[in-house]
Amino acid sequence: MTNDAAGIKPGMLKAIHYESGELVQVELSGGKIERMTRLDEEAGNQPWIAPGLLDLQINGYRGMDFNTLPIASGMPQQFTRALWAEGVTSYMPTVITNSSEAIIEAVAAIAAACAADAYTDHAVAGIHLEGPFISPEDGPRGAHGKAFVRPPDWELFQRWQEAAQGRIKIITLSPEWPGSIEFIEKVTASGVIVSIGHTSATAEQIREAAAAGARMSTHLGNGAHLMLPRHPNYIWEQLAQDRLWACMIADGFHLPESVLKVILKVKGERAMLVSDAVQLAGMPAGEYAPHIGGKVVLTPEGRLHLADQPNLLAGSAQMLFRGVEQMMRLKLCTFAEAWNMASIRPRTFLNGKEMTFGAGAAADFVLLDRNGDSLRIRETYVQGVKVY
Ligand SMILES: [Zn+2]
Repeated sequence: MTNDAAGIKPGMLKAIHYESGELVQVELSGGKIERMTRLDEEAGNQPWIAPGLLDLQINGYRGMDFNTLPIASGMPQQFTRALWAEGVTSYMPTVITNSSEAIIEAVAAIAAACAADAYTDHAVAGIHLEGPFISPEDGPRGAHGKAFVRPPDWELFQRWQEAAQGRIKIITLSPEWPGSIEFIEKVTASGVIVSIGHTSATAEQIREAAAAGARMSTHLGNGAHLMLPRHPNYIWEQLAQDRLWACMIADGFHLPESVLKVILKVKGERAMLVSDAVQLAGMPAGEYAPHIGGKVVLTPEGRLHLADQPNLLAGSAQMLFRGVEQMMRLKLCTFAEAWNMASIRPRTFLNGKEMTFGAGAAADFVLLDRNGDSLRIRETYVQGVKVY
């Protein structure tokens, strides 16, 4: 039964608050939550209400891909709408290491889609440029094309930012390159967040990068060497740098439970979830031959690996709310905390100020069913309008 059918006035709904567990009446007005009032009645069959998810790193979904060029006209608009079914109301399309021309083409296409469509403009919290100023080394480089990896270049970055109409909001880089510190200072001063990732930097270089303005760790624990010196190393150092917020891929395959637990304990309120989903996310299990690289296999469990090397992952095929479920299933945190790691915290991180879900907040939210640790998105609202 939807709220429309429940005989409640338009712009008003009843649901269980995801943090307090209490039944609330929510009043919407002008795209915002006007009022949230606690009700003294049985919750019954009401859904849970929670803020829309925000994915800081997503490459693709259901055959759509921001790194397969050309980006078809209308694709980002379709992408925005497809994510509503997954409870995602904001996201950062992620463009990875490529030639300068290809980066320009990708970011320009995303910017054009934002200019053409109000929903996409609202949903895209910025572009995440992952590369090409990352480590050239096998291991840390991950699946990024070695031919296009290069040292940081402020002139180039400015050209990309211009093509993106200023929409690049996060850049993932490795501070191992000479000139990194100066570049990080300039990028940070321009209002773009520097994130450390795909790195083989020394602990000292990590420290200097954080001091120069870097604020985030991209999928901490992944995009790394298989073997590391016990200490110091770039993982310990990123854990220890309090100013670095940490992103984790909690898809059940990228990080073992102990690593998720440690990152969460060390980072506390600064631990966040990302999907890092690729275009095969949301697709049926089977063997695929995607645009880049060789054949890959998507297992019925949702693990995506290279066909000829099953021990090597080929990206994530799990959407963000699966990561939330995974954190709950492992009993690493409560439902509310897991949900916040993928919604309120990334908003607080991007905005640089504490964001909350209540009166005055944007009416971007989901109504969902909870069955133990399993979640099901019932409805998604954007600016107070039911879109899914
Ligand atoms: Zn990556």
